[in-house]
Amino acid sequence: MLVGDAHSHVNPVKGLGPSRLARRFKESGGWFIAVASLLSWSYRGLAKRVEDYVEVFKLNVEAVEVMRREGLVCAAIIGVHPAEVVRLMETGLKRDEVEGLVVGAYEAAARMVKEGQAQGLGEVGRPHFPAPREAVELCNVILDHVLELAHDLDCPVHIHVERGGLATVEDVARRARAKKARRVLLHHAEPHVWRRAAELGLASSIPARFKDLVEALRQPRPLSFLVESDYLDDPKRPGAVVAPWSIASSFRKLIYQGALSVPDADRILVDNVAGFYGVEPP
Ligand SMILES: [Zn+2]
Repeated sequence: MLVGDAHSHVNPVKGLGPSRLARRFKESGGWFIAVASLLSWSYRGLAKRVEDYVEVFKLNVEAVEVMRREGLVCAAIIGVHPAEVVRLMETGLKRDEVEGLVVGAYEAAARMVKEGQAQGLGEVGRPHFPAPREAVELCNVILDHVLELAHDLDCPVHIHVERGGLATVEDVARRARAKKARRVLLHHAEPHVWRRAAELGLASSIPARFKDLVEALRQPRPLSFLVESDYLDDPKRPGAVVAPWSIASSFRKLIYQGALSVPDADRILVDNVAGFYGVEPP
């Protein structure tokens, strides 16, 4: 079975790192992985300047290059996570200062995408936990700005938002439409929303947890969603998420139980991935 992971992470400083992760994933059938940059403090400490973010982006780009050398097709996704916006506000910076920093970081990220060092932007959006209104409003301003950058670059953008059901999906779709962003991926999508999201022009990436997959498969065909491990590569949180190499066994179990056909598995793990990321299927 061939596996494409639509959203994952690798930590070259503190985690398993790109080589070992790529090898394990490849052995399980992995052919493609989209790797989003982590929170700045996951590597060395909270970023305080645009240059600090550029360092974070470069760490991710370099890790992805290692994974390519291991034989995987990859997309490096770079950006500033909404939780980081909340944290920056908490440090006492003024709203305008945080906006200048994060928008500046995204403009640097956009240049790296334009130069071909990275392939997409994100995670951008809103925190999934309760946060002060001012921080959420700023997150929305940044989201709209990044959707515009993604339109200009015609590149993928990974959206991280609260688990707010169809209302959240409709809000993101409205913002994407306003900025004419066409390659928008709802990362960590709730399993019941992918069909409505697809109708509204958004791609959905469902966490590859068995019960979420079962729920996603209850929707009518064609199956237009992607799946993700959202692996954090954090040795301190080994059980926090699914590992990329366990996607194959979950899919095999679904096929064995009759919840999924082999062509449908290929559609989700190969065709939908190749289509969204604009890469050649294996
Ligand atoms: Zn993630």
